[in-house]
Amino acid sequence: MKKTFIEVSFPVKEVSEESAREKNIRHGHISTLHIWWARRPLASSRATSYAALIPAVSEDPTEWNKKWQFLIKLSKWENSLNPVVIEKARKDILEANGGKVPRVLDPFSGGGSIPLEALRLGCEVHAVEYNPVAVLILKCTLEYPQKYGKPRKVKEKDKVGLEYEKEINPLLEDTQKWGNWVLESAKKEIGKFYPADEDGFIPVGYYWMRTIPCQNPICSAEIPLTANWWLAKKDNKEVALYPYVEGKEVKFKIVGDGYEKMPADFNPEKGTVSRAVAVCPVCGGVVDDDTTRKLFQQGKAGQRMVAVVLSQGKGEGKFYRLATDKDLEVFKEAERYLEEKREKLMEEWG
Ligand SMILES: [Zn+2]
Repeated sequence: MKKTFIEVSFPVKEVSEESAREKNIRHGHISTLHIWWARRPLASSRATSYAALIPAVSEDPTEWNKKWQFLIKLSKWENSLNPVVIEKARKDILEANGGKVPRVLDPFSGGGSIPLEALRLGCEVHAVEYNPVAVLILKCTLEYPQKYGKPRKVKEKDKVGLEYEKEINPLLEDTQKWGNWVLESAKKEIGKFYPADEDGFIPVGYYWMRTIPCQNPICSAEIPLTANWWLAKKDNKEVALYPYVEGKEVKFKIVGDGYEKMPADFNPEKGTVSRAVAVCPVCGGVVDDDTTRKLFQQGKAGQRMVAVVLSQGKGEGKFYRLATDKDLEVFKEAERYLEEKREKLMEEWG
């Protein structure tokens, strides 16, 4: 059998760069559909699939360079829907396979990058997975867009009753409709566990810290464990929790952009724990890694709700405040509700 391109050479460096760049793409990428562990980048999936389906080129350096450059071009995110580039790749593959559409089987499809790219390259694709979550992701990535995503024309009436034609995408409409249904149903059932603050801000997240008791017998303070104190660390927004000691208790203030000024001698990068070695902010005592692990194993570690993340609505940015007793009360209520619900469902479903 003749060697394929990938067996002879491959632009590893360039395609790796494209793959790394892809991680920052938030719009239109399948990674935003649902999280999947170790989903392969589309750039490398596309480039390796192509390079495995075309033959190695002759020794002619010009020919070889042309293919090499095309592979890099093909791997770029921007060319995912470029008809000229994709059509050329499809044509090359078809030609290499004697005019027959090649069959690609991915027996461990996972997040679906390889089957998606093989489909894009015009192959007949078979994706296999035994994890039901991955199977659903695969259906949504590979099957449903083709089956239900074709735009069609519908007739609608305008305000004065005149009929007009409108193009809709049924998949888009249904996703919006059922997505809203899930949202509204969830709001109805658990919305009460996210009560709005007086200023209208709604809690969207809670910061918790695991805790261990300080092993210094004359201290025994509760040490909040955290690798760093950041709440937000962006170029334009740095917010952190500032710990201070009152009596034998560690308390917090929120400092940074939009809050109290961050003290000059405060380094938010330096938390209370690193590699399971914890430092008590009250007495400065050190809990070694073996003891920390033992405390967890013996169930002596606790947890503390520290801060609440709030939002005013979609795209409005996040806001932080310290957790209060009321937040904890709401959390406990939610915990009780979840337990009741779990028992009820266990009874219903067995
Ligand atoms: Zn201590």
